[in-house]
Amino acid sequence: PGWLAGRWGLNLLNNFMSRLYMIQREDSAMAATLEDFMSGLRKRNPGEPEFHQAVEEVAFYVLPYMQDHPHYAQHRILERMTEPDRVIAFRVCWEDDAGNVRVNRGFRVQNNNAIGPYKGGLRFHPTVTLSVLKFLAFEQTFKNSLTGLPMGGGKGGANFNPKGKSDHEVMRFCQAFMTELHRHIGPHTDVPAGDIGVGAREIGYLFGQHKRIANEFTGILTGKGLEYGGSLIRNEATGYGTVYMMQAMLAVKNDSVEGKCCVVSGSGNVATYAVEKINHMGGKVVTLSDSSGFVHDPDGIDSAKLEWVKELKTVRRGRISEYADEFTGATYHAGNRPWGVPCDLAFPCATQNELSEQEAKTLLSNGCSGVSEGANMPTDKDGVRAFLDAKILYAPSKAANAGGVAVSGLEMSQNSVRISWTEDDLQEKLTTIMQTIHDQCSEYGREQDGHINYLKGANIAGFIKVADAMLAYGVI
Ligand code: NDP
Repeated sequence: PGWLAGRWGLNLLNNFMSRLYMIQREDSAMAATLEDFMSGLRKRNPGEPEFHQAVEEVAFYVLPYMQDHPHYAQHRILERMTEPDRVIAFRVCWEDDAGNVRVNRGFRVQNNNAIGPYKGGLRFHPTVTLSVLKFLAFEQTFKNSLTGLPMGGGKGGANFNPKGKSDHEVMRFCQAFMTELHRHIGPHTDVPAGDIGVGAREIGYLFGQHKRIANEFTGILTGKGLEYGGSLIRNEATGYGTVYMMQAMLAVKNDSVEGKCCVVSGSGNVATYAVEKINHMGGKVVTLSDSSGFVHDPDGIDSAKLEWVKELKTVRRGRISEYADEFTGATYHAGNRPWGVPCDLAFPCATQNELSEQEAKTLLSNGCSGVSEGANMPTDKDGVRAFLDAKILYAPSKAANAGGVAVSGLEMSQNSVRISWTEDDLQEKLTTIMQTIHDQCSEYGREQDGHINYLKGANIAGFIKVADAMLAYGVI
């Protein structure tokens, strides 16, 4: 009868409305929890915007997960993870070629060693601050966990600018930096690597100074030269891994990098090896950049051009603008970033917050359907939201660029047992690790409509392993 159908309809509507109300209440309770957590963190760490940004991105996903698994909250695991185990800051004094005394500030942030010795790069760049290094060390903790290898998270560096310095000046700086850092690192304690401004040259000087002071030859750094304990494919690993991650995401959609037009930023270690792997896979890269501008080469940056770029950056230490003078058809765009160039896939490989919301929207409106982050936190908070809302393939840095630290972990293993694996062995291990990272992100990031939120997946999967180890140790 009509009145029964009417009541049934009314009940359905009531149920729907109260469910909606509960969801809204849960959402606003969760927003309040996040805001509570973040306001405490901001108060304890004033003036550290990059650190706040990195923590908020993790807390946004981990707090709801912890509501369903309350033992983590009872033991204040997220509060403990966001308080670094140790922050070391020190003066670095050195003499330039003219005999002037120069003073810089050095740091090592030892964030968390629950699952292994602290591990993470050293950055030499004028923009280095405690906030930047705390964000990087925090991110590193989750990234290292995702690799499945026994490595904790750390990061360090100095506000030293290697650009324009002679080799001798860089050497003297590295020696002064290591003279203090050596007290705090060791193969079972903390094993740094390279990052922005710290490449093969700097690692050589740093390792040499440690060997001299400690009078021992041990694996206290990774990214070393092959002659003195380095691993094959360490240089290539971050850039290659970033592209493997993209390939793994595309494979879920029965697609691949082959034939895709790609925009890459940066022109350092990560960017150049990302280009190399995209070329191997049959894609075409049309941009590279540095902090002064970007080059656009519609014909593609093939392997011969790429070799020229590697020589430009690592031997002549020149600027990317020179590319446009060398290759006809290429143009240089001073003071701009490459995100306005239409592409299928984007690989930000330069630095943090180099891709804004507006630039993310430009990429999307130009048809970009996949982003894999080679740099650490290259997309700003609103840019990330734009990618997530558009439901494109988006691999966050802590998953996408984990290949570098993974091969660093393999370098540590080789150093411990004094063996060297072959290139084939290492390639196989790297591809397996990247696929496993992809699969962990899928497991924890799959949404009800089947879309994979890789950011959510990476944050939760990275969190669980470290959190469970911390629980096992009790209150320390
Ligand atoms: P490099 O020093 O080799 O290259 C850095 C590149 O980024 C250069 O082209 C540099 O240009 C550019 N860059 C630096 N700062 C800025 C800026 N403020 N604005 C625009 N461009 C900038 O460093 P890597 O390639 O090693 O590192 C790049 C990114 O990848 C970083 O975010 C790093 O943390 C991350 N990463 C690196 C790993 C590695 O194994 N090396 C591992 C995991 C992540 P310029 O020469 O003008 O400064």
